[in-house]
Amino acid sequence: MARARLASHAARLLALGMLTTLAACTPRPVLPPPQSVIAPESPLRKPAPSPEIAIAEEAVQGAVLIGRAPVGTTTITLDGKAVPLAADGRFLVGFGRDAGPRSVVAATLADGTVVSRPVRVIPRVYDEQRVEGLPPATVTLPPALKARRAAEVAKMVAARAKPSPEIGWTHGFILPTAGRVTGVYGSRRIRNGVPGSPHNGLDLANVTGTPVVAPADGIVRLAEPDFLLEGGLVIIDHGLGLYSAFLHLSRLDVATGDRLLRGQQVGAIGATGRATGPHLHWGARWGETFVDPALLPGLPDLGGTGGAPAPVLTTPTQ
Ligand SMILES: [Zn+2]
Repeated sequence: MARARLASHAARLLALGMLTTLAACTPRPVLPPPQSVIAPESPLRKPAPSPEIAIAEEAVQGAVLIGRAPVGTTTITLDGKAVPLAADGRFLVGFGRDAGPRSVVAATLADGTVVSRPVRVIPRVYDEQRVEGLPPATVTLPPALKARRAAEVAKMVAARAKPSPEIGWTHGFILPTAGRVTGVYGSRRIRNGVPGSPHNGLDLANVTGTPVVAPADGIVRLAEPDFLLEGGLVIIDHGLGLYSAFLHLSRLDVATGDRLLRGQQVGAIGATGRATGPHLHWGARWGETFVDPALLPGLPDLGGTGGAPAPVLTTPTQ
């Protein structure tokens, strides 16, 4: 047995050796230029060849993808739920903190044909902080404030009721302020073994008064100086269901209905509402789904004209 195995091993080595020798003797073939040299146009800038949906095959949890529906699409869905569709066929889909492992984007064409594309959702590991021996968290509002809070929540819901039907931005996202990262998307505390609700945004800490700018073009849907928990709050509609929310602002420089260009000043960092120190909480939502704002600056430049150049932000001072 052992001898037979040795023999077959030797034969394999011999065969490999021969192959190597052959390869060494054969003139190296002239390869065609790599495909990337041909540089096909980005699929996001032209209609997808019917009837394909143009969208990335995978996304991490918390990410937003930009897709292009085939010509003649009447409705587009993500996992069966309708998705806003721009007149030029572009659409956005967002994936929540715990989304996945697989989602399906489907387009229904005018003739009733349905085409679909799967998207693999890659899981992330989120920060978890275990805190033991604490009294239970008390966030119950006194009865006197409950009516005020209900009115505030209604305003926030109304602000996101009618998403702009177009992607309003052309040159991608920037960070809205300079600051030290003190809170990340998806993290949560586990108090006495009970998981709290996840942190749905990015916290950037800096001194009160540090300018906060629009991370991309958009329309101000809500500008409120003094909400109970959010403090100074601005909600920006970036189109196709994508919204930014800025919390704890010390000053507001915009009003509801204003159209903003990327880099335009929105307000300033503060510690208003429920905040332990001056910071910007930047929340991002796609419809009802909280997405990770830290991933938005990675969205591609969609070309076109308009928009403002990226501003130079001040360095954090704390
Ligand atoms: Zn926060």
